[in-house]
Amino acid sequence: MSKVSGKRRLCIFCGAADGLPAEYREAARAFGAAAARRGIGLVYGGCSTGLMGAMADGALDLGGEVIGVLPDVLGGREPGHPRLTELLRVPDMHTRKAMMTALVDGFVALPGGYGTLDELFEALTWRQIGTHAKPIALLDVDDYFAPLITFIDQAARTGFVAERARRFFFVEQDAERLLDELARIIGA
Ligand code: AMP
Repeated sequence: MSKVSGKRRLCIFCGAADGLPAEYREAARAFGAAAARRGIGLVYGGCSTGLMGAMADGALDLGGEVIGVLPDVLGGREPGHPRLTELLRVPDMHTRKAMMTALVDGFVALPGGYGTLDELFEALTWRQIGTHAKPIALLDVDDYFAPLITFIDQAARTGFVAERARRFFFVEQDAERLLDELARIIGA
């Protein structure tokens, strides 16, 4: 599906939790809108809550393409977004991550919890073992990722993370600059 129309797509990881400070929701919505304005398609976990829902709404409101990949194993705990371009149902979390990876040209993590971090680190570890060679970016809203980046830098300094692998991701605080850089890499 990914390249049929030559369209570029990004996989977005971000939090499903509701009740977050408005600035996080707004940043997710603005990111979705910015991607849609550039004609970049989005692939994500498919639910309507939290930053995931806000990001999808931002893109859909501008006519952007948003594909959700929702695992049956969640059993309705994360409600599917009702307005998606396409909602793909998969049996489990592993299939979800593999399918999202196959459909996209790069990954972006916005703030989130365990699920987001799991997905981010799987994208990083799959790149490390050569399962894919796609770019990975963090949108660092309100310095959310700063402690994580400090930790990864420590892991790189001590040698647990190779210098080459430290460069698998880049960090931007501004959505447009992040998309400029990804667009340059993936040719969007
Ligand atoms: P969170 O960042 O915890 O709010 O979760 C964001 C998204 O990640 C949600 O759609 C979760 O269902 C998803 N998620 C949670 N755990 C996993 C996992 N092990 N593999 C893939 N996705 C997950």
